Amino acid sequence: MMAKVIIDKERCKGCGLCISVCPKRLIILSQGFNSKGYHFVRTSEQGHCVGCLSCAVICPDTAIEVYK
Ligand code: SF4
Ligand code: SF4
Repeated sequence: MMAKVIIDKERCKGCGLCISVCPKRLIILSQGFNSKGYHFVRTSEQGHCVGCLSCAVICPDTAIEVYK
């Protein structure tokens, strides 16, 4: 099964919690900054999301949505 992860970069504070829980290591820190000056995260092109929801559940800023 493949799922799709949508990250709202303006909500992200770059805390890295989602990076640490993804079993597929799909989430990486972007080089860019959002409008509040935070590094935001994005999804890597390497590998496929398995839709475990761990990233969405752990994000304190509800910046991640997962669509299955
Ligand atoms: S849903 Fe799971 S596999 Fe997909 S990006 Fe989030 S933590 Fe990684
Ligand atoms: S857990 Fe949320 S706020 Fe923290 S880096 Fe991931 S998307 Fe950004």
